[in-house]
Amino acid sequence: MNALIRAAENSTTPSPRTPPLPVPRVLVVDDREENLEAMRAVLDDDGSWQLLCVNSGEAALQCLLHDDISLVLLDVQMPGMDGYEVAELMHGNPRTRHTPIIFVSAIARTPELILRGYNTGAVDFILKPFDPAMLRQKVHNLLAYENNRRELQRLSQQLERERAFSVSILANAAEGIMVVGEDGLIQYANPAMVQMLGDEKAGNTANNLQGRAFLELLAASDAPQQDWTLSPFYQHWRKRQTYRQHEAALITASNAPLPVSLSCAPLPQPQRAMVILVRDISVEYNLHKQLESLIIADPLTGLLNRRGFLQAVEAALSRARRGDRKLALLYLDLDGFKAINDTLGHNAGDDLLYRISAKLRSGVRAYDSLARMGGDEFTILLDNLHSCNDAAKVAAKLLELVASEQRIGEMTFNLSASVGIACWPDCGDDVESLISAADMAMYEVKQNGRQHYRFYSPQMTANVHARIHLDQRLREAIDKQYFELLWQPQYCLDSGQLRGFEALLRWPRGNPDKLGPDQFISRLEETGLIHPLGKWVLNEGIGQLARLNQHFGAATTLSLNISPAQFAIPELIEELAQLLHSHNVPATQLELEVTESVLLKNLNTTQSQLRLLRELGIKIAVDDFGTGYSSLAYLSQFDLDVLKIDRLFITNMMASPRDAALVKTIIDLGEHLGLDIIAEGVETQAQRQWLLEQVEHGKAIMQGWLVSPALPFEAALKAPRQLDWGQVPLTLA
Ligand code: C2E
Ligand code: MG
Ligand code: MG
Repeated sequence: MNALIRAAENSTTPSPRTPPLPVPRVLVVDDREENLEAMRAVLDDDGSWQLLCVNSGEAALQCLLHDDISLVLLDVQMPGMDGYEVAELMHGNPRTRHTPIIFVSAIARTPELILRGYNTGAVDFILKPFDPAMLRQKVHNLLAYENNRRELQRLSQQLERERAFSVSILANAAEGIMVVGEDGLIQYANPAMVQMLGDEKAGNTANNLQGRAFLELLAASDAPQQDWTLSPFYQHWRKRQTYRQHEAALITASNAPLPVSLSCAPLPQPQRAMVILVRDISVEYNLHKQLESLIIADPLTGLLNRRGFLQAVEAALSRARRGDRKLALLYLDLDGFKAINDTLGHNAGDDLLYRISAKLRSGVRAYDSLARMGGDEFTILLDNLHSCNDAAKVAAKLLELVASEQRIGEMTFNLSASVGIACWPDCGDDVESLISAADMAMYEVKQNGRQHYRFYSPQMTANVHARIHLDQRLREAIDKQYFELLWQPQYCLDSGQLRGFEALLRWPRGNPDKLGPDQFISRLEETGLIHPLGKWVLNEGIGQLARLNQHFGAATTLSLNISPAQFAIPELIEELAQLLHSHNVPATQLELEVTESVLLKNLNTTQSQLRLLRELGIKIAVDDFGTGYSSLAYLSQFDLDVLKIDRLFITNMMASPRDAALVKTIIDLGEHLGLDIIAEGVETQAQRQWLLEQVEHGKAIMQGWLVSPALPFEAALKAPRQLDWGQVPLTLA
């Protein structure tokens, strides 16, 4: 085969069919006419050849030049150019070199002359007179010989053309082609194959490949067993079947794997070999890899996305099932990220997520999988652990990394995170149950003050079930109108004049656990059930305000709490306007209580929403002031009316100088910005007294058990318009 390759310079396509050979021509050369006549008489009557006669050497050469002559009967003695000379000239011409010559001579020749004749191409020497039958037989035999010679020549030329054609295909094919013997050794490799495996300088030549084991070229993962007879190539060859391997890798001269597809077909039996076609699929492979990495990567952080993470956990689980190591899955959620995102904008949020992802990456080992599941949720798979307790150390480290101070633009703030941990095999056997267990554990951390980590426990599943059960009961309570509003009066801190009421939600029926609004409102928010219930509160509250007016006159204020989700919907303004109109109460009597987080949610929409509410005439109070993201800078940006000091500060202010300072600052701030101050949860005269001392002109308002808890509507109607501080607390129930 190699010899074939070396000869492959020129290639022509073989002619599909060769025309039959023409009737052979016999040329008789003699200077004497009677001799020619005699020859004609002997040879002319046979149709199996054509006889041509000429009478000189020159004429003979002319004829040989133009006609295809199969045999020459050549007179030795001729005037001018004799027979030897003609024979010598014929011998010198490639066209006539092999044309057989019979010398005809009238006189006997010396052995030297006869030898000279044979040297110039004579195949026979006959003397005159000759036996005609003998001559005819000789002519017959020589023509048959010549015919065979020519046929052989034609066949060998055809063979050469076909060989060159095949060789040119092998040499010019873009695919690699190898012939591998039944012993698994390479017998032949075409130039494309050699090129594929690396340049010749690096040591791969057709010669070097020859004799090498084919399996040695395959990357280890594609040739798991190095035993050739067990390989699928040999096995298929034995059954005379074609074998294809769509994705394989060959080791190139530079030791890099080259992605290829292989097809291996048996060669005809006697060759005891197979031909392997090798296609370089590196372009497709790389594109596919690229696509795959896009599919499994999170574009913002470059970490794995959910899909990639699921794949990584699946792979780790199947490894772990074969060994005795443990796995832990961490679910990390940033605390309060949403507010940052809403306040500072999505670009700043993205920037922060990117930075956090880099910090998290620095806190885990290179082979741990880290993913962003969406939003501000990250998951980490800790592989190959001795003990699940090791996961706690990693969680603590990640919490510490996240907790470092962050700066976006002018603002610096401290971020924190909550982490749930699920271990394999204790907390679940598959990806989904592990993720869900870690998520549950994370949720528990959120519910219990954030900034920490927790391991999953079965109790958490019970909690999830309890939440699902609670959701059902909340739905039922909304449908069946089991909720009601209680009314807590607000009084001027020094004059004791009734300012108005805050309506507070209660769930008295179908609530065996006696859950307060603090416990169920967050759940209503999470499930979206807050919308129907929030509407009910607005309708009920504004409806009752009309009744309050009949009793107290139109100077009382009604405070309604509004949840973040409820505040965000654009229809809120329209709804409120309609309710105020249909219950015929002025907007100026209505006050909406929003928390700081509501204000910070989305600065632009909040500002416009507040402006529209203010245009209607509705007042805005910031509830639980001081507990949220106390960025005092934002206060001046909003149209506000009231600051409500959170109950916790009031409770602690007498004992804690820090809380006392905080309350004082809020009061000063309110006075400075022209906002009313309401102190919530005032329970004692001492607290009232202390507050009075802080407030200039005693203009603050109080609300709390010192006067009255929240009351059913009928009881609230009994609240005095003017309080005698000596008679508190009121017993109105
Ligand atoms: P909030 O708006 O800050 O309401 C004040 C809470 O403090 C009320 O608890 C009230 O009963 C309680 N409170 C008032 N005075 C005192 C006192 O002297 N001592 C003590 N220990 N507590 C006092 P409540 O009714 O359990 O409401 C808790 C929270 O639930 C409210 O805090 C408010 O954020 C939310 N909420 C209540 N009703 C609604 C509502 O209709 N819609 C929305 N979105 N949230 C509501
Ligand atoms: Mg409130
Ligand atoms: Mg409050």
